[in-house]
Amino acid sequence: GGLGDGKAEVPKVYVEESDPSNEKDKVNAAFVTLARNGDLYELVESIREIEDRFNRKFHYDWVFLNDDVFDDNFKKVTSALVSGKTHYGKINKDQWGFPEWIDTDKAAKVRKEMHDKKIIYGDSISYRHMCRYESGFFFRHPLMMKYDYYWRVEPGIKIFCDINYDIFRYFHDNSLVYGFTISLPEYKETIPTLWDTTKNFMKENPQYVAENNLMDLISEDSGATYNGCHFWSNFEVGDLRFWRSEAYMKYFEYLDHAGGFFYERWGDAPVHSIAASLFLPREKVHFFNDVGYYHVPFFNCPIDENLRLTHHCSCNPDKDFTFRGYSCVNRYFSVKGLEKPKGWENYS
Ligand code: GDP
Ligand code: MN
Repeated sequence: GGLGDGKAEVPKVYVEESDPSNEKDKVNAAFVTLARNGDLYELVESIREIEDRFNRKFHYDWVFLNDDVFDDNFKKVTSALVSGKTHYGKINKDQWGFPEWIDTDKAAKVRKEMHDKKIIYGDSISYRHMCRYESGFFFRHPLMMKYDYYWRVEPGIKIFCDINYDIFRYFHDNSLVYGFTISLPEYKETIPTLWDTTKNFMKENPQYVAENNLMDLISEDSGATYNGCHFWSNFEVGDLRFWRSEAYMKYFEYLDHAGGFFYERWGDAPVHSIAASLFLPREKVHFFNDVGYYHVPFFNCPIDENLRLTHHCSCNPDKDFTFRGYSCVNRYFSVKGLEKPKGWENYS
């Protein structure tokens, strides 16, 4: 079939092997979105994208989390769009606030300084609670506990290509743990002491550092310094059991007590990325080259024309960020010894 005739293009093998009406083919997985009521109408665009490109074939559940109570309109509109079950959770106050060991005057002073230096979200309290929540708590919210795999979705994102296979089952069948679409260096001003804190943690807990990890992705001097490379966490597909593991839980507690979520502005993206790069064997991390993804301001658009046409991708490959100079995916390909797609130089 041509464009618009999506059905004829669905590879038969996936339809038969992952019959959406066949519950036994599904793995324990859910979408998860942290949002405010006010995010609703940007979020419905994201849900529609995910449903059209993927979930209308598989009907996975969707968990919505909020530090406030979701209103009836939010629930009505989102539940009408999601083809799986929807769940709405309120976040516990002790997971969205200053822990008792944080000096709130010191934190306020930092926010003022970061505001003056015009550091993005540098003056925001709620952004810090959000980053801390996504770093240490979303995977253990009571509504998440029955799931093994998740796909994080934010408001205002796009999915450009048909996904004709069950991504969650693919993760399960291949024992993958963490998947990403875009990777780039973090603003150093937001994480001045994150790496030193991480090094101290590793020194005290060497047993958590995986053999054959991805240290060479995030450090160019065998771990002396962090190059800032992080997987962009507004898109994540992953195994929740990794975040619930002793290694990660200990790491999060260590970071949380060091205070950098409030005395600096540590993002959940570098925190997740450093953990995935150090505590996992490198083959557990997966780059999605076939999804096609956008979150302002970066695009992942497959540069392989055949892939783009057969998967009905609706994006311009000239905008693809994957192989640009600033993208850490270049380094990911080289440290993993992967072959870049033909013609990648034309998009670098
Ligand atoms: P950015 O992508 O780094 O610019 O940050 P966003 O503004 O997109 O926030 C990241 C995610 O957290 C999105 O899913 C937001 O909807 C959500 N979020 C951000 N701040 C808050 C908040 O104060 N409360 C709630 N409930 N969700 C938030
Ligand atoms: Mn966002």
